[in-house]
Amino acid sequence: MQNPLLTTFDEAPFSKIKNEHFKPAFLQGIEDARAEIDAIAENSDAPTFDNTIEALEFSGQQLDRISSVFFNLNSAETNEEIQKIAQEISPLLSEFGNDITLNEGLFKRVKAVYDQKDSLDLTVEQNTLLDKKYKSFSRNGANLSDDKKKRLREIDAKLAKLKLTFGENVLAETNKYQLHLTDEADLDGLPEGEKEAAAQMAISKGKEDGWMITLDYPSYIPFMKYAKNRELRKKLSLAFGSKGFHNDKLDNQENVLEIAKLRFERANLLGYKTHANFVLEERMAETPEKVHSFLNELLEKAKPAAEREFKQLEDFAKKLDGIDRLEKWDSSYYSEKLKQELFNLDDEKLKPYFKLENVINGVFKVAENLFDLNFEEVTDVEKYHDEVKTYRVYDNDKNFISLFYADFHPRAGKRGGAWMTSFKSQWKRNGENVRPHISNVCNFTPSTKSKPSLLTFNEVTTLFHEFGHGLHGMLANTTYPSLSGTSVFWDFVELPSQVLENWCYEKEALELFAKHYETGETIPMELVEKIKESATFQEGMQTLRQLSFGLLDMSWHGIEPTGITNVKAHEDEAFKDTSLYPETPETCMSTAFSHIFQGGYSSGYYSYKWAEVLDADAFAYFKEKGIFNKEVATKFKDNVLSQGGTENPMVLYKRFRGAEPKVEALLERAGLLQS
Ligand SMILES: [Zn+2]
Repeated sequence: MQNPLLTTFDEAPFSKIKNEHFKPAFLQGIEDARAEIDAIAENSDAPTFDNTIEALEFSGQQLDRISSVFFNLNSAETNEEIQKIAQEISPLLSEFGNDITLNEGLFKRVKAVYDQKDSLDLTVEQNTLLDKKYKSFSRNGANLSDDKKKRLREIDAKLAKLKLTFGENVLAETNKYQLHLTDEADLDGLPEGEKEAAAQMAISKGKEDGWMITLDYPSYIPFMKYAKNRELRKKLSLAFGSKGFHNDKLDNQENVLEIAKLRFERANLLGYKTHANFVLEERMAETPEKVHSFLNELLEKAKPAAEREFKQLEDFAKKLDGIDRLEKWDSSYYSEKLKQELFNLDDEKLKPYFKLENVINGVFKVAENLFDLNFEEVTDVEKYHDEVKTYRVYDNDKNFISLFYADFHPRAGKRGGAWMTSFKSQWKRNGENVRPHISNVCNFTPSTKSKPSLLTFNEVTTLFHEFGHGLHGMLANTTYPSLSGTSVFWDFVELPSQVLENWCYEKEALELFAKHYETGETIPMELVEKIKESATFQEGMQTLRQLSFGLLDMSWHGIEPTGITNVKAHEDEAFKDTSLYPETPETCMSTAFSHIFQGGYSSGYYSYKWAEVLDADAFAYFKEKGIFNKEVATKFKDNVLSQGGTENPMVLYKRFRGAEPKVEALLERAGLLQS
């Protein structure tokens, strides 16, 4: 029988795919893609946009399809065998990727086209594609002399090793620490479920009795939130805050300094002023100066609210327990108590209004009202698990727009969290507009024998969020697959998802679907108001915290770090305008800031707030004209959702909104403007 992954398929043929098909399909796919690349590099005709850039763009399509089927399954329906194949295949795929960016013959042709781009009369999208392809080589050193190339490879190898060590140290520090409690009074305040978990943890760590608290989030967070014992909270908080900062063999201070300096040297080598300049070249924010002024503008405007909230919390702690000076380890404990006093809102009150099927119909209805999309559930599409639902999506003229898979509940083979992905992207070729296959995967509360699946409000906003990413994929209307749908600059990708969450708080939208699963009663507005208010609880302090991380990130990457010798002193300087709690000399954030020193967020932490500013500003436009206003929705579809990464996102955004995003809408939504 022929390997189904090597046939030309449209909808993924899940029923025919067996695990043993993957490896041979990958090997064949890589070989075919390599032959296509070689043919482009060795073409004896003069390089043109068509025979080089476009040919490169459309090479390896079979390999892409095989990869998306495989890696989507590895996330949503995996098993040991699939994981083993992933271990074997991943190095081969990254080696193939490197072979392309290091292919000198290929780069010569790409550069030849790039150098004459002004005389080629390209469309905007073609220009963007050319730029992107060229930079995928130049940003990896293709233009450098041989000795500089050699230095670049050395730096990359060193950085890879340092990042690995950094992460291993943080992990070892996290795993090393154990707080073993034998007096039940020390757990006062913790809910029963948390106590049980702590008792189980003690047993699993080889203790015969008692309770164990660790620095893992599921153990650490509840203890800081509920434990009455202030001394123990302090002990735990200091342990958490001093990871990689003990001057021992797991210390990360030298690693931090070395990573920052090597990143700076790498950026210089490639012709950029700092690492942040290098990273931000491919971001909507563009330059470190712009990120700085963005963070500082928000800081200036959010700080008065943060200080008010801090005072409120301090007064509350003083009244409740006679606390004179609020410390870091008091923060979540008193915040949780204050929140309960102010809102008394629990999930059980809301869940009956959010039956999963109602919420799905609600989000479809929102998409119909805004973008004329109609979702038809179908049973003739193959799926990878019985629980997956499949839909064909049409516009009002019955044109096929997209295939949509929805996979909502947890299973043994599914990783945690919620995400959007695609089994096939969208593109246009030879006069045909090839439509995408989009998927949402979540881990929502399943139904039981007596109750349907009832979502928490957090799950409702998650569903809208992932569906927003989904719309970005479904409505894609571009020529090139690598510029299609969610293939946009990193600080722009959360706009469609986050903006859609706003509809969950609006009466007009909730009336469409938030109905009690037994009585059919629409959710009472006072509950909705409470949800809104509690959503902005301590927003000023939260904002300050996010800004402090963004500023710390930029302090390491937006300057020349050569002169920095003391990690803690440098960090204190970066935090000086954002700290509310008294400083603790025992702790250091940088030595465990894995996001920026191990993961891919360096010079990118600001983008959390950036995306919020974008979505609040965009939604303010809807609010102004009506949340189902067709004119605004159409502008959003035509200028943002359908355009993918074909143009600079700021240009796309301004075309939709008429102006650059302003921070005011976020400040207002977050309740930070009132005096
Ligand atoms: Zn998202």
